[in-house]
Amino acid sequence: MTKDVIVLGAGIVGVSTAIHLQRRGRQVTLVDRKAPGGETSFGNAGLIQREGVVPYGFPQQLGVLIRYAFNNRIDAHYHLRALPGQLAFLARYWWNSNTKRHEMISRAYAPLIEHSISEHNDLIEASHSGHLIRKDGWMEIFRTDAKRDAEFAEAERLQREFGVSYDALSGADIARMEPSIRGEFRGGLRWRDPWSVLDPHGLITAYRLYFERLGGRFTSGDAATLEQTASGWKVTTSDGAVEAQDAVVALGPWADLATSKLGYSFPLGVKRGYHMHYAPEGDAMLNNWTLDAERGYFLAPMNRGIRLTTGAEFAARDAPKTPVQLDRAEKVARAIFPLGRRLDPEPWMGARPCTPDMMPIIGKAPRHDGLWFAFGHAHHGLTLGPVTGRVLAELITGDAPFINIAAYSPNRFNP
Ligand SMILES: Cc1cc2nc3c(=O)[nH]c(=O)nc-3n(C[C@H](O)[C@H](O)[C@H](O)COP(=O)(O)OP(=O)(O)OC[C@H]3O[C@@H](n4cnc5c(N)ncnc54)[C@H](O)[C@@H]3O)c2cc1C
Repeated sequence: MTKDVIVLGAGIVGVSTAIHLQRRGRQVTLVDRKAPGGETSFGNAGLIQREGVVPYGFPQQLGVLIRYAFNNRIDAHYHLRALPGQLAFLARYWWNSNTKRHEMISRAYAPLIEHSISEHNDLIEASHSGHLIRKDGWMEIFRTDAKRDAEFAEAERLQREFGVSYDALSGADIARMEPSIRGEFRGGLRWRDPWSVLDPHGLITAYRLYFERLGGRFTSGDAATLEQTASGWKVTTSDGAVEAQDAVVALGPWADLATSKLGYSFPLGVKRGYHMHYAPEGDAMLNNWTLDAERGYFLAPMNRGIRLTTGAEFAARDAPKTPVQLDRAEKVARAIFPLGRRLDPEPWMGARPCTPDMMPIIGKAPRHDGLWFAFGHAHHGLTLGPVTGRVLAELITGDAPFINIAAYSPNRFNP
């Protein structure tokens, strides 16, 4: 069987890429070992983060690093035995997070983020999934004056330099907007531009169905079987061997399963994260996607219930779950909001696919014709999937990408 393009990985990045290729006249086979959207893209916080122009850096100050070393925080956790394996990634991540380099990276990263809402909007309309979207931003709340003042100053800078918009909130504003939230918050920010998704898996499902309506096909298969042929690429699927001129690796945290045996080495790390859904107690209501900023967890009022999501866990990608951050966050969250019973039988876990310079890898494989990479979207894969999908499809079909993607080239790690 010959198909035009094989897209490996049916997360938000792979599905979006498959749509854009199919729209541009290519015949696409989308391949995943699981059902589409079943991994990292399944359980995120559901934010299309138009304000997220500054990627999350690694702490620089010694005092902060020492606090993290105690390994008792909510926003970060690590497995000691996993650190040696992640050292190359962590050292380069720390180095790139230095103020000057981080500023340069933000400037290179911002154009991707800038188009996140418009590119999702295109796919949301085409897939008739507007009922899964809210367009009223998200909120972070601060417990101390010092944190509030620092974040207000940073928001002002982001508005000036990158055109994002926000409202500065007082404690009284927060009480009015969220009557069920208890505790004395000193202020907050409402980011106005971002959109939120009431069911991230539902959104990917809608995108995938749209892809199939365009004539694309999904099949299950193992990306590790990818091999080069005389005329292109071949992968083994449940429908037999699929051959195509081009192949796209959109495997998120599993990209190395396809790239390393072709001779590529990317210093990728993962930041694992957890979620759990809760029923609100009584008639309590959470109106906004809310970050408890000093503690580092999200509460998101999704269709299934209030989804609590956690920060970064530095651990081996496939090591068993250790949801200690979730337990710690739940305790703190219960003190500020009347969360009721847990709704999931066990915590969900995903692994954010991270590069040490905080930018995704998008472009042609340096040493193979017809092979393309789209992975490493870290904290912003949901946000960026449709942007990446469009620029990569443009590149594959021979058009100039609508934004300059030189900074995301795979060559920066594999010259
Ligand atoms: C707790 C948490 C909260 C988050 N919140 C947000 C948010 O609010 N906004 C945001 O923008 N981002 C958020 N993210 C990040 C976002 O979820 C990820 O960046 C994004 O899902 C990555 O998408 P992907 O398509 O690259 O990877 P994935 O969704 O992981 O897709 C990769 C696919 O490859 C498949 N695969 C793996 N191995 C094989 C194989 N051998 N053969 C075939 N297929 C294979 C997998 O089954 C999977 O479907 C969050 C992440 C977490 C963990």
